[in-house]
Amino acid sequence: MSLKVHRIVLLLLLVALPVSVPAEDGGMKATLDSLELGDGLFLLRSDSPIGNPSTVALRGDDGFLLVDPNLLLAAQPLKAFLRSAGDLPVRYIATTHFHGDHTEGLEVFPDAVSLAPVRQRERLATGQVVLGERPIEAAALPDLVFDQDVTLRFAGRTIDLLLPPNRSGHTDGDLFIYLREDRVLCAGDYVFFDKFPIVDLQNGGSLDGFLENLRWIVDRFPPDTRVVPGHGTFKPAEIRIATIAEVRAYAETLERTIDWIRGELERGVDLETLATRDDLPEPLPTMGARPRYLSAERWIRQVYRALAAENAG
Ligand SMILES: [Zn+2]
Repeated sequence: MSLKVHRIVLLLLLVALPVSVPAEDGGMKATLDSLELGDGLFLLRSDSPIGNPSTVALRGDDGFLLVDPNLLLAAQPLKAFLRSAGDLPVRYIATTHFHGDHTEGLEVFPDAVSLAPVRQRERLATGQVVLGERPIEAAALPDLVFDQDVTLRFAGRTIDLLLPPNRSGHTDGDLFIYLREDRVLCAGDYVFFDKFPIVDLQNGGSLDGFLENLRWIVDRFPPDTRVVPGHGTFKPAEIRIATIAEVRAYAETLERTIDWIRGELERGVDLETLATRDDLPEPLPTMGARPRYLSAERWIRQVYRALAAENAG
């Protein structure tokens, strides 16, 4: 088989069957599945004992652009995937926010030009990374930082790096990456399907900002936009992409649970009583029941504290 035919067969295989590349790292195993979203554009899902963050890889003529380079734990299967999908270097990396499950992999590709909002770099540099609780190595810190929207041309695409309208959302350094021609939006940790999100109140996030930015996604992008969640489904479920309609429904569901918690708070119910209730109304029990995400109790505690702080302010 010629090299070209070989490559085509390989790519067809990649499209047909998710590659599952196992890795062993400190006793923990991570695997990676892929889904082709467009020509040379892949959504990668790592599946490891500490979460399953998404990476998006876009192949250009001379290298890859990555969105969120994933956990260090996923480095080996990520590199194996890139080899199988073209064996080119990683040229650019954009990161949706500073949390370690989305940024640890910056250290795997220190030669890539990494792009991030100013505030996100500050968070990365000062060690407030969720996993590992250490700063990212200096050589891997973002190279190109900005405090406004930036548009990049790569692999024949127009790629918008967009700051959300409310800078205090999931964290205070969030970035949205939108591939205009493909209508693919990398939304980081804003969309969790039927699970509760984390709002990182300790690192500049806010509940109001989170909801405002979710609403902005719904209003700002075309209805047929494919929204890549920062964490997808778990195996054996298929990798899922959200529609704008699903993001709208998600925002409304979260708002319903927040309204209920607000009502209880205003009735004078204290946090401990509320968080430990075992007769919560739907959708709280269902959304909190899934593994490896926020429980209803943690969601209640997070929302209650945010609302109480708002009331106090
Ligand atoms: Zn996060």
